[in-house]
Amino acid sequence: MIDALTRKLSERAINALPSPTLTIAAKANALKAAGRDLVSFSAGEPDFDTPQNVKDAAIKAIVAGQTKYTPSSGTPALKNAIIAKLERDNGLSYKPSQIIASTGAKQSIYNAMQAILQKGDEVLIPAPYWVSYPEQVKLAGAKPVIVPTDAEFRLSASVLERFVTAETKLIVLNSPSNPTGAVYDESTLKDIAELAVRYGIYVLSDEIYEKVIYDGRKAVSIASFNSAIKDLTITVNGLSKSHSMTGWRLGYAAGDAEIIAAMGRIQDQSTSNPSSITQAAGVEALNGPQDAVEVMRVEFQKRRDYIVAALNEIPGVVTNKPGGAFYVFPNVGKLYGRKYTANGVEKTVSDSDSFAEYLLDQADVAVIPGSGFGADDYVRLSYATSMENIVKGVTRISEAIGRLA
Ligand code: PMP
Repeated sequence: MIDALTRKLSERAINALPSPTLTIAAKANALKAAGRDLVSFSAGEPDFDTPQNVKDAAIKAIVAGQTKYTPSSGTPALKNAIIAKLERDNGLSYKPSQIIASTGAKQSIYNAMQAILQKGDEVLIPAPYWVSYPEQVKLAGAKPVIVPTDAEFRLSASVLERFVTAETKLIVLNSPSNPTGAVYDESTLKDIAELAVRYGIYVLSDEIYEKVIYDGRKAVSIASFNSAIKDLTITVNGLSKSHSMTGWRLGYAAGDAEIIAAMGRIQDQSTSNPSSITQAAGVEALNGPQDAVEVMRVEFQKRRDYIVAALNEIPGVVTNKPGGAFYVFPNVGKLYGRKYTANGVEKTVSDSDSFAEYLLDQADVAVIPGSGFGADDYVRLSYATSMENIVKGVTRISEAIGRLA
């Protein structure tokens, strides 16, 4: 009894790391609100407004009284819109029982992990990874196993296979990737599909950046190759990035009916349905005109071209040209060991955290350290900010690096 009272937090809560991306974005916003002339490359969301037709659909839903509970896993109208989208864009056909809508893709992923993982299970996560994957694996009681990618962040099935054990239950894929922007090509995905089927490993395919993709590439859904891999794959997507709807909180998952039903039970007993108004907006986002999606994509590609070239001009910084998403992930490891003096104290840039701290304190630029993504030689810059900010921010970074001794 006394023990339970003195031990305030659960082991689960103690072991859950705070999200470094959300923490730094919040710090950057607070500094800006306090009047600091800060250029923030920390945003994990498009800097565009939600399309007007989507907002109008939400207003209409409110006026029509669509303000009550809906079926926990989503309205029939939304599920039908999701089914039509998966058929149209991804060549995937599903029944309503194979679809769940959630409060963000993040909740869909959480539900999926809770539904299929338990103590003893291992989950293969290619690094650099989105910060929430290992944390959600741990919250499900399972073990994240980090798999390296090459210098261009390419994953190969043969490297993946080296980490497969009898306990491997799930592979997490994210293409285009946060934080690297890497896009897996079709042949790599086919090799991974073949591996997953051969060992009977589930695949969680996080396709949230599907629409933010460049140079004529097209995102490929791993589930689309054949029915064997489709049965093993939980495809996750959402409207946050494609339709600039991060605050609305709508994501979804498609997969095996039994797994989706289990995810539904977990959602029933935790959050219930995503907002009824958001779901109505989601139907319009999926079924309505898609011009706004393309406008954003074209603008992001222009910014990517600029920022990659500008960063590569800076001595000691090496940046890949990402094929998708709105992040660049430069390698700054060559700068580690350099020094600067702040308030009479000599400091060393020794890792991605201290490099990000240097830029924030001495150059008024916010970037996200790579440490949280499992890649300490890197930092993440989001170019979901104006071209003017990008030019200003990269200039500041360049000058600040030039001042390091
Ligand atoms: N997956 C990845 C890779 C992401 O970057 C994000 C958002 N940062 C999400 C999932 C979650 O998106 P949401 O919950 O807003 O749909």
